Amino acid sequence: MKILFYDTKSYDRDSFTDALSKFPDIEIEYTKSDLDPRTAALADGFDAVCAFVSSDVGARTLEILHEKGIGLVLMRCAGYNNVDLEVAKKYDICVMCVPGYSPEAVAEHAMALVLACNRRLYKAYNKVRENDFSLSGLMGVTLHGKTAGIIGTGKIGAAMCRICKGFGMRVLAYDVYQNEALKGFVEYVSLEKVLSDSDVISLHCPLTDSTYHMINIDTIRQMKDGVILVNTSRGALVKTDDLVEGIRMLKFAGVGLDVYEEETNNVFEDRSDEILEHSTTARLLSFPNVMITSHQGFFTREALDAIASTTLQNVRDFEEGNASGNEVTG
Ligand code: NAD
Repeated sequence: MKILFYDTKSYDRDSFTDALSKFPDIEIEYTKSDLDPRTAALADGFDAVCAFVSSDVGARTLEILHEKGIGLVLMRCAGYNNVDLEVAKKYDICVMCVPGYSPEAVAEHAMALVLACNRRLYKAYNKVRENDFSLSGLMGVTLHGKTAGIIGTGKIGAAMCRICKGFGMRVLAYDVYQNEALKGFVEYVSLEKVLSDSDVISLHCPLTDSTYHMINIDTIRQMKDGVILVNTSRGALVKTDDLVEGIRMLKFAGVGLDVYEEETNNVFEDRSDEILEHSTTARLLSFPNVMITSHQGFFTREALDAIASTTLQNVRDFEEGNASGNEVTG
């Protein structure tokens, strides 16, 4: 099986090269280009492609991949909202992902954002570097005894519940399905109650039609004043213009975003020499209570190793006709 890997960085090549030793029948070529309708034709002569969170695996891309004889699209990530599954099905292209490669990695990053926003660590770091040892603008709250509201309690949300519990927080949760394993210490309540009662709200559901813009001006108005909102899931769960309005209404003590609506052109790119015109990201960054990271929740050594070995096992399962459970059907 010959696979073209799109949107690769040196760390992708390192983790997959290590994992390949156990899969000698798989041949990989790497390209820095991301997968979209302009680059899909590069897959000519390959059997499969491997794409990532910012790839455009929409209808036109899949049509071209189909013309080039591609029968397998490997997503080396948990989310697959950027894949048109209907069109993949039409062309009989199998789509596979890597669910739950390291839920704790993402949940730990979500808590890192909570802590950084609460104590304004990003500001404190810069202040001390400038010999400003004053504490102005750095006051937070004690998280112990406060209420965490977790929206989406699958693998990552469950890990976040456990972390919040470890901090001595009361943990409220909302999900369309309740996670039995959490019931001893998590109170499942309505979305409205999570919004109104939580001091920290962390989003952990996938991007679907039902979760698109679930955080909007109406849901923001239901939140407590002084809430900390963290999104490590997918940018479009939050309607950015409404978030900006909420920040201007002084609703938030802190907003920590590992993902945001405009991220596609930014993710994993160095754009430090550019002037980002018309950028809502720049608008968000102008607020002192907002911290943004660039989709790095997954980025631990363990998670990358797990992504590589599961992706290659997905290839083997596909070739051998074994249903691994990692096939995505929509
Ligand atoms: P998961 O499938 O295990 O859990 C998702 C949970 O969301 C499920 O329990 C599901 O029932 C729930 N859900 C679905 N629709 C809902 C709704 N309308 N309201 C409330 N809950 C709803 O997924 P996971 O592994 O925990 O990952 C969650 C998301 O995290 C992924 O979809 C992905 O977008 C994101 N993610 C981000 C990073 C990162 O680097 N920042 C890394 C991996 C995953």
